[in-house]
Amino acid sequence: MAAPKMFDLSGNVAVVTGGNGGIGRGIALGFAEAGAAVAILARNEDKNRGVLAELERLGVPAIALKLDVTQRDQLRPAMENVERKLGPVSILVNNAGIAVMRGAMKFRAEDWDRVVETNLSSCFFLSQIAAQSMAQHQRGKIINIASEYSIFGAQSGIAYAAAKGGLVQATKTLAIELAPHNIQVNALIPGWIDTDLTVPAQSGKFFEEIITRTPAGRFGKPEEMAGAAIFLASHASDFVTGATICVDGGFAIR
Ligand code: NDP
Repeated sequence: MAAPKMFDLSGNVAVVTGGNGGIGRGIALGFAEAGAAVAILARNEDKNRGVLAELERLGVPAIALKLDVTQRDQLRPAMENVERKLGPVSILVNNAGIAVMRGAMKFRAEDWDRVVETNLSSCFFLSQIAAQSMAQHQRGKIINIASEYSIFGAQSGIAYAAAKGGLVQATKTLAIELAPHNIQVNALIPGWIDTDLTVPAQSGKFFEEIITRTPAGRFGKPEEMAGAAIFLASHASDFVTGATICVDGGFAIR
């Protein structure tokens, strides 16, 4: 069944960081199904190749680039490489993320730097590069993948919570500044999604607590993030900016 026209992403070029992993892969495949050309940017080349093959099977132009988003000097060359191969980037999803869960009293400086650089700083610098190009075309969509810890405190993982909280504020601030260029900037808050990142939370007492607190009574699947991402990437959301949308089975309301 064809997607309604307002959700059609044909003619768009989408960049998804961390596109070889759980949520990033789900969003990248969703974009491809909606007709976008897709570039995935991540470090692991084997995983990159696997998802690239899936994207190609959907019949859209696609590339996978090896990129460590914490290497600031590599961000602009990577984005330029995407534009050379696929055309001007009109959608950026800042999805690459890591978590280090350790108590604040013993949190190491190198872990703080790594988590904040991956989950917050790289999102801003990639957005800055993308926005410079999008502004020339007077259209663009930036989607930041935030977290329930953007809203709530975390029992451990101080850097993760601080970075994800900052990402929502960065989303709002960029949304204001970029609105005159017809660039919409929004954030998605996944609930507990079944990916490599959440393997430690998928058993034991913590798992039971999550299931009890989630009205839907289960973890989400990575592909369930795609619908909201397509909305935020498409004309359907042209009057939506600076928003934070939960895709969480109701976790945030309980
Ligand atoms: P995964 O671990 O499955 O995927 C993480 C992705 O990020 C991988 O593709 C990984 O690829 C990439 N990545 C990590 N570090 C870097 C880096 N330095 N440079 C480039 N790519 C990097 O986790 P999820 O899919 O669960 O997480 C995706 C996003 O969703 C993250 O931002 C996470 O914080 C957020 N999130 C997830 C939730 C969940 O329940 N799963 C809940 C709330 C938020 P590679 O290792 O090859 O570089």
